[in-house]
Amino acid sequence: MVRFFLRFCLISHLFNGLLLLGALPISEASAQQVNIYSFRHDFLVEPLLNRFEDTTGIMVNIVSGNADVMIKRLAAEGAQSMTDLLLTVDAGRLERAKALGLLQPVSSAKIEQALPSRYRDKDKMWFGLSVRARPILYNRQHVKPWAVKDYTDLSDRRWRGRLCLRDSKNIYNQSLVAGYLAHKGAAQTRLWVRGMVANLAQRPQGNDIDQIKYVAAAVCHFSVVNTYYLARLLKSENPQEQAAARQVGVIWPDQEGDGTHINVSAVALARHAPNREAAIRFIEFLLTEDAQRLYSEQILEYPVVSGVPVAEIVKSLGPFREDTLSLNALGIYNAQARQIMKEEGWD
Ligand code: FE
Repeated sequence: MVRFFLRFCLISHLFNGLLLLGALPISEASAQQVNIYSFRHDFLVEPLLNRFEDTTGIMVNIVSGNADVMIKRLAAEGAQSMTDLLLTVDAGRLERAKALGLLQPVSSAKIEQALPSRYRDKDKMWFGLSVRARPILYNRQHVKPWAVKDYTDLSDRRWRGRLCLRDSKNIYNQSLVAGYLAHKGAAQTRLWVRGMVANLAQRPQGNDIDQIKYVAAAVCHFSVVNTYYLARLLKSENPQEQAAARQVGVIWPDQEGDGTHINVSAVALARHAPNREAAIRFIEFLLTEDAQRLYSEQILEYPVVSGVPVAEIVKSLGPFREDTLSLNALGIYNAQARQIMKEEGWD
């Protein structure tokens, strides 16, 4: 009850600018708590929150919202902000929040011990919680899996009219192009993007789930998607969704080159966090083996802590070698990547 009340108050405060927390009974208001701005409701599973609250006595309050809106709001709130932690996806987006001065560094031996350095910001401003991979998706009926080997192959003229892509406003593809740019330079990236745009079966549209459905329905024969969407459809109780997922297969690109593009979901401490210590304890908790197991099973991504098993359905998509490019590069090359996408007509 208390938590819902607190959550309600926090939501009201953040969204209406009303300081409703003042109305709380003193004993509850002074209890230790941590306030999280999360891009998605189910991002933190209830059992995970309960476990943290039970072991630490720290209450967790969550506000959910669109990630880019969240970042704007955090900027607008400034020092008045009640937010302790920002939970969102894509290193490109976290780098944006960092550049806007919305984050603060965290030094924690526990975090550094648990989390490999490639999954965290070099300035200690954000910390990966799960790894997401963005391989190539293909239609099993129309294409052989060995037809395409690398991301570069998607620009091959033999695939005219056979590629689907999300629009260029989406951070996932911006980060994919930024990673390619970091490895191969501007000239080659431009040719790649140009070739892919020429190969489009339709105007860039839809989300990742839609890409799976387009490929399954043979609107196009290839796309690029984050694997957790495919895993979700494979587990779907809707028979049509499951059938669509079974029509498509995964190609792990660049296995002999730079590796398959990956990204992270991550957590960051807000610059003006009022509950700094409790917030850091929560980050440390999310990187424990127990929490990682629950977390990766719920969101069907890859755990960041070694030794934690991958969910069975995710494992069924096969092993792959991931790109080890610094995730900071995805932020550094974001603007140039967007520029190239725009100039080459990726709407
Ligand atoms: Fe996603």
